[in-house]
Amino acid sequence: MAQNGRLPDSDLAPILQGRLVRANSCAASWNAMNAEARRLGVELRPTGSKSSYRTFAQQQELWNLYRSGKGNLAATPGTSNHGWGLAVDLATTQMRAMVDRIGKRYGWAKEWSDAPSEWWHIRYRSGIWSGPDPGPTGSGAAPPAQPAAPPRPQVALDVGVMPDGRFEVFRIVGDNITNRWNAKTGGWAPNWQRL
Ligand SMILES: [Zn+2]
Repeated sequence: MAQNGRLPDSDLAPILQGRLVRANSCAASWNAMNAEARRLGVELRPTGSKSSYRTFAQQQELWNLYRSGKGNLAATPGTSNHGWGLAVDLATTQMRAMVDRIGKRYGWAKEWSDAPSEWWHIRYRSGIWSGPDPGPTGSGAAPPAQPAAPPRPQVALDVGVMPDGRFEVFRIVGDNITNRWNAKTGGWAPNWQRL
């Protein structure tokens, strides 16, 4: 029977700069999420060597630091989700924002994690994602459909000429006249007139 912080190597699979448990597609889902995050411009990685799977001895070390007032809040050795290979501490808020954006489909979301006071800590929820493991640096997951960018409104200038030769210039965005520049009053308006 596997014990917290004492998982055999065969139960663990690599993620970028760390390891997570293999069971229930945990490590694979992380790697698949990271493949998508990477395509979107953010590489997800744990803060350090104790920030994904964490051994009992490492948890003990963090616990001692916490108890002596020198470290972050740490779970009692033997109880941390890091010891089950189910949690990751993210290195930056940018990574956290990316997990907030795309993580739920992969089983990763802060809102269902433990340690709510630690923005960096997220825990896996199994049963949401399954698929092949693209590996720590792979991109094996199918690329997500990119939503089409909304069409930019057409911008145009139009000129209206009066019988006496004076004219007005209109700026048109989409179907709306947004500005008018005219010589009707005997000279150019000092500025674009916003309509
Ligand atoms: Zn953590």
